[in-house]
Amino acid sequence: MKSIVLFGPPGAGKGTQAQRIMNSTGLPQVSTGDMLRAAVSAGTETGVKAKSFMDAGELVPDDVIIDLIKDRIKQPDAVNGVMFDGFPRTIPQAEALSEICEVSHVIAIEVPDSKIVERICGRFTCADCSAVFHDTFKPTKVLNKCDSCDSSNFKRRADDNESTVLSRLNAYHEQTSPLADWYKSRNIFYPFNGDRPIDEITTDILSVLQ
Ligand code: AMP
Repeated sequence: MKSIVLFGPPGAGKGTQAQRIMNSTGLPQVSTGDMLRAAVSAGTETGVKAKSFMDAGELVPDDVIIDLIKDRIKQPDAVNGVMFDGFPRTIPQAEALSEICEVSHVIAIEVPDSKIVERICGRFTCADCSAVFHDTFKPTKVLNKCDSCDSSNFKRRADDNESTVLSRLNAYHEQTSPLADWYKSRNIFYPFNGDRPIDEITTDILSVLQ
């Protein structure tokens, strides 16, 4: 199977849809944001290089990201393709990807800027199973218990605060959104309105991946 790319601004719901697409297609999720956060926590060389950019809401340099992806797709679980989440984010990253892996679909989840800040500032995830929740839009069914695994261990991202979100949105518009035209010209760009109930979006995405 070929790989797919989940594309969209921060807070569009890429992580939420990635978990659902993974359950249906079996494609492993490759999130550069998750990989970088793990590298920062572990204090690796990559983590040290990336941290100041992430804290400022800026993009980590392309060479760091491309090396990370080249290593990741050598893993055995990537042999039948993967689902990239948050990668590529620049034209040089997309060019590097096109040399190492065939992409069949770019799934673009579109959400207006006016909705992004409140979506990001209220979100949190289960620290044990990574299920995604939101204070207002998707609270846990039972207070302080994960719907999926019953854990009471939740986490919020350090960069999910209003000022960093505005920088991340700025980076998205300046450096990442030009990729939409790059992929449209290759006829693999599939846009979806992300400002709808989560299930509806998943159904529409899965219908083009059949
Ligand atoms: P995310 O979890 O995808 O929102 O990414 C969190 C942060 O990690 C971003 O604000 C960037 O600083 C960095 N990052 C993640 N993926 C990339 C990428 N493909 N290129 C550059 N920086 C990235």
